[in-house]
Amino acid sequence: MPDGPPPEKMMFQLNLRRRGISDQRVLRAMDNVPRDAFVDEADRMDAWRDTALGIACGQTISQPFVVAYMTERLELRDDHRVLEIGTGSGYQAAILSRLCREVVTLERFRALADRARVRLKKLHCDNVEVMLGDGFDVPADLGQFDRIMVTAAMEQLPEALTARLEPDGLLVAPVGPQSGRQTLILVRQTDAGLVRKELLDVRFVPALPGIAREL
Ligand code: SAH
Repeated sequence: MPDGPPPEKMMFQLNLRRRGISDQRVLRAMDNVPRDAFVDEADRMDAWRDTALGIACGQTISQPFVVAYMTERLELRDDHRVLEIGTGSGYQAAILSRLCREVVTLERFRALADRARVRLKKLHCDNVEVMLGDGFDVPADLGQFDRIMVTAAMEQLPEALTARLEPDGLLVAPVGPQSGRQTLILVRQTDAGLVRKELLDVRFVPALPGIAREL
């Protein structure tokens, strides 16, 4: 009998399709990036389940459906330059890296940034730059981006962030209070200004300002 993908990986793909993910490039990227390489050792068995999991520094790796959904909404092209706020485990950055030219990802915990950098290197995600930094204060010399993805909940979307979008750029972000209703927002930079659309309710860890003091 030929070796097929293990059943948990088949369920993983099936669940994404069942929940409405249809972009073949996104499905392929989700298939190619081993989520079990981004979770704690103790959670390896649960890596293919459609749930968020705890990682170091009290943060989380997002639920696979939400990763795929946010990625799909960005309509990524091979020539795009993408900014991610909130590297966490590096999993979302790895997915993005398969679908665009360059990813810059900012993380406020040094320990998370360092660990994500090692994982991404092992998986040959050579077009990702992991930086210790604050998504509320993106360094000016990083320039403009075709796409921006925020993976921590912001109470309000800072104007300084939408200002970093190229013309026709897209930004996706969870917006809302730490313990209250958070909604995924899609923002498009158009000739007529920003066009904002609410997508679905979500639950993310909060975006906090500044570099974390703890390691
Ligand atoms: N995208 C991640 C999950 C992110 S969890 C993954 O695929 O694993 C949210 C992350 O955002 C956390 O690691 C948190 O430390 C980080 N974060 C919160 N506020 C931030 C800020 N202002 N700048 C950069 N990163 C931030």
